[in-house]
Formats: sequence, structure tokens, C-alpha cells
Amino acid sequence: MATTVHSIPLQTDVPIPTWFGIGGGADALASPRSTDELLACLDMDPGCRVLGEGANLLVHDAGVGGVVVRLAQGEFRMVEQLPGRDGEPDSETVVWRVGAGVDLRRLITDSVRQGLGGLEGLGGIPASIGGALVMNAGGSFGQIADVVRRVFVVSRRGARLTLERDAIGFGYRKSGLGEYIVTGCEIGLQQGDPAKLRERLKEVMAHKKVTQPMAADSAGCCFKNPTLGRTIENIGDAGERVGAGLLIDRAGCKGLAVGGAHVSAQHANFFPVAQGARAADVIGLMEEVERRVFEAFGVRLEREVVVWQREGA
Ligand SMILES: Cc1cc2nc3c(=O)[nH]c(=O)nc-3n(C[C@H](O)[C@H](O)[C@H](O)COP(=O)(O)OP(=O)(O)OC[C@H]3O[C@@H](n4cnc5c(N)ncnc54)[C@H](O)[C@@H]3O)c2cc1C
Repeated sequence: MATTVHSIPLQTDVPIPTWFGIGGGADALASPRSTDELLACLDMDPGCRVLGEGANLLVHDAGVGGVVVRLAQGEFRMVEQLPGRDGEPDSETVVWRVGAGVDLRRLITDSVRQGLGGLEGLGGIPASIGGALVMNAGGSFGQIADVVRRVFVVSRRGARLTLERDAIGFGYRKSGLGEYIVTGCEIGLQQGDPAKLRERLKEVMAHKKVTQPMAADSAGCCFKNPTLGRTIENIGDAGERVGAGLLIDRAGCKGLAVGGAHVSAQHANFFPVAQGARAADVIGLMEEVERRVFEAFGVRLEREVVVWQREGA
């Protein structure tokens, strides 16, 4: 059912769109168009969950209670170029202010078209800017933290804050933004040659297509690449970050299935689902893979995919 609360569009008992395409819905989904409306959502439910593109998200079959907030309208979709300011590091840098609900892939295409470099290494990553910042999305060719200058957030108590890049604690697939709701950011892009940038973007996307099952329903990599605590023959040295997919493959999990979810034969860290699969299948598969990798190598995999579950379930 669609309604408005304090003039904020609100749907009740509604599916949550994720890239897995499975799982339960939200008791309430609010779509604020401004930070003021977002603050009103926080009044309704200070613990509200934030949905981006749903590309790193698995929602439990029973769905979730409380309010889910989606920042996909109004000011959250805006991209604006800031005028040059005194004290800018160099004239080659162009600064864009970007709303949290902007589609990363769209932003990459627009920046490359305008001959602005910095985002092309993230080609093919499905994300909202908010989700990309929280997860510090990236891969072999860069991470979003590389272009971030500052991030705009609201705290759960409703304070509007600006966080400078160096205070955010960006690391491998993590940030210190988890306790906040990201409303937008400023990124610095470098003037470049549009043709060369387009070529680079094509290469990055081609590499992704060859190495990952991009067309399958999944959340990308289910686990973070771990840093080895000890040397493992034919895998890596102590202190080295190695592919979780390599460990999953070597533990003999390729092709392993639970219900409608299976370990991809193309990339063992992707767990695509078939139509009719349940979130419980993916969770069961993750648990089985965790168990087998630990048994084989003594490595505890850390989940990259975020799982939403109803309180008390
Ligand atoms: C085919 C495929 C390929 C992928 N390839 C890559 C890859 O190469 N590299 C990579 O890093 N990731 C990859 N991913 C995973 C995914 O693209 C990233 O994790 C991305 O950053 C998720 O962004 P999102 O907007 O979809 O976030 P969601 O999945 O919607 O949410 C993820 C988490 O971020 C939180 N969140 C979202 N928006 C906000 C906000 N505004 N404020 C506060 N919290 C927020 C959510 O509450 C949740 O906890 C891939 C996924 C798929 C499906």
C-alpha cells in the first residue's frame, strides 16, 4: 500500500529490490527526497535501515520490520559541479558534489564522457554512491575512496555532519561510515582525454565480464579476501591478502549447491541463485563454504554481503 507520512512517500508490505532478486520485503519503505525528510524518517524509526542499489544485500525470507529508507529521489539524485575555489590543490581537479542515491555506473559514464578521470577503474560495479562509500567499493583497478574528498552524513540522532576523507577510516571493502546515513559526498576528478578514458573503461568492463558472472543474480563477492595468518602452500604467504574465491575453489566448493543457490564455476566467490531460490539457501551455502574453507585451511572467511534479518528471527 502506498501512502505519505509527514508528506514522505511511504509504502507498506513491499518487496525490497536486490540484485539477488530473492528474499523477503519491508514492512515499511520510505523514500525521502531531502535531508529534512530523512530526518523525519529518523524520528519515525531511529534504527531505520538504508537501502542503496541492493547489490551487496541479502534480505532474509521473512523480510524486515521497522522502516527501510531508500535515498533515490530529489536531492539524493543530484550531481553538481562546484565552482573553482581558492586553495584548490590544482586547476586540473574538478570537484563534483554527488547525492547518495546517484547510480555509480551512470556517474562513471557521465564523467568519462566529459573527459574527467578517476572513476573509470570502478566500471561495472553496481552501486548507489551511498552504498559504494559505506562498502568502499572497488577492485583491482581502484576503490571509491581514491576520489573522495569529503562525505556528508546524518547521525542516528539527527545531526548533519561533514566528514573529511582522512577521518573516515577507509580500508579494504570497509569504511567508518557504518554508523551514519550517508547523504552525499564530494569527489575530485582529473581532467583527461575522453577517448583514452573511454578505452580504459572498456578494458575494465571487459576484464570484469571475463572473470565474473556479471549476468547472474548475485551480490557479487560473498566474502572478503582474507589476509593469511600463516603461509599456505600454493595459496599465499603469511600476511598476504589472497582471493577468497581461490580458497573456496581449492577447498573443493566450485559447483556446490544448497537449494537454488550455487557456487559459480566462473568465480567461486559469486553465489548466483536460480528462480525460486530462498535467502535461506544462500545463507546455508555461505555457512557450508565457511565450514569447508576453515576445515581445509584454518581460515575464517568474513562475509562481504550484508544480510538483513527481522529482529528476533
Ligand atoms: C554483479 C555484481 C558485481 C559486483 N562487483 C563488485 C566489485 O567489483 N567491487 C565491489 O566492491 N563490490 C562489488 N559488488 C558489490 C556491490 O556492488 C557493492 O558492495 C556496492 O558498494 C553496494 O552498493 P549498494 O548501493 O547496492 O548498497 P546496498 O547493497 O543497497 O547496501 C549495502 C550496505 O550499505 C548500506 N548503505 C547503502 N546506502 C547507504 C547510505 N546512503 N547510508 C548508509 N548506509 C548505506 C546498506 O544499509 C547496507 O548495509 C558487486 C555486486 C554485484 C551484484
